[in-house]
Amino acid sequence: MPALTTRLERLGAALTLEANAGLAATFADTAYRDARIENDPKTVVSDADIVLAVQPPPADLVKAMKPGSVLISLLYGNSNLDTVAALKDRKVTAFAMEQIPRISRAQSMDVLSSQAALAGYYAPLLGAVHMPRILPMMTTAVGSLRAAKVLVMGLGVAGLSALATAHRLGAIMEGYDVRPETREQAESLGAKFVDTGVDARGEGGYARELTADEKAKVEQTLTRHIAEADMIITTASVPGRPAPKLISSAQVAAMKPGAVIVDLGAESGGNCEMTKPGDTVNVGAVTILGPLNVPSALAQHASDLYAKNILNLLDLLIKDGAIHLDFEDEVVAGTVATHDGKIRNEALRQIIE
Ligand code: NAD
Repeated sequence: MPALTTRLERLGAALTLEANAGLAATFADTAYRDARIENDPKTVVSDADIVLAVQPPPADLVKAMKPGSVLISLLYGNSNLDTVAALKDRKVTAFAMEQIPRISRAQSMDVLSSQAALAGYYAPLLGAVHMPRILPMMTTAVGSLRAAKVLVMGLGVAGLSALATAHRLGAIMEGYDVRPETREQAESLGAKFVDTGVDARGEGGYARELTADEKAKVEQTLTRHIAEADMIITTASVPGRPAPKLISSAQVAAMKPGAVIVDLGAESGGNCEMTKPGDTVNVGAVTILGPLNVPSALAQHASDLYAKNILNLLDLLIKDGAIHLDFEDEVVAGTVATHDGKIRNEALRQIIE
């Protein structure tokens, strides 16, 4: 994100940029002012004290990093074990941005929230262009059109953001979640909360998986709301588990002709039984979208917010122009995956060591 180069320089950094690194997000190399531009990624990382990236670097690129240097990127260690092992061997201090603790003090560094807010914003827009009707009520010379009903399932960061967009588009909104505290949040955005009578609060503000009995109870209540919706946005997720299935094939079959499902759970398998991740499917007259990497459709702002998340982390780490690691700080302790030749993340250590 070029606009932040000044702030990085103010922290004492001299910047090197991989050529065309920002191009997919419409940022030309020239926008990064005085940064040195290098074509070969290995040259970029080989003399850097701090490497900033979006995606985890491949293991052979890690081998070109300076021992003792710092990496700040998304890591998803469980799916990138080679990279984690290379970071450990190279004695790199690797911050896994997706592991930033979900605590108030770390909100400004929380990439999952910043990107979920964008994905949620975008979901009703994606759905709207696939609908054969409009969303707001419209009064015309030949009569009135009724507002569309939008049901949002899963009211975390993405779901609440989706409700906010649906509201701006003039829809009638309903929201549903298994954490009861979301009722007030949904209502404050103008949505009606669908109460299924199930409370599945888990640890750390997340939800837990439902029991078979709870699933049956939820299904009974939700079926009518699913059948009446013109658009459904699903965002439900349980940490470490595949996306819970909230919409069955039978429920899809009972939906209105022309209705659309935008399944933001597609990334982890989908919240609808009939979702094909990365694809759009038509089931009768119902359209089911399973978009992947939604924030990349809003690359300028995705980049803007992610860069700010990283800068806020750097603000915490850099004192007098140098990185200071305080492992007593829960943000540092929770986010560092490898340091000084050791794996510090307990789950990864059990797999790799
Ligand atoms: P998430 O992406 O893990 O899940 C999305 C939503 O799906 C959650 O609201 C969850 O309750 C819901 N869900 C799970 N199973 C469901 C089911 N079977 N049916 C319906 N809904 C289901 O959530 P998130 O957006 O990452 O937020 C999780 C929690 O973390 C929230 O309490 C949020 O307020 C909190 N949070 C805190 C911070 C912070 O303090 N820094 C930042 C972000 C989020």
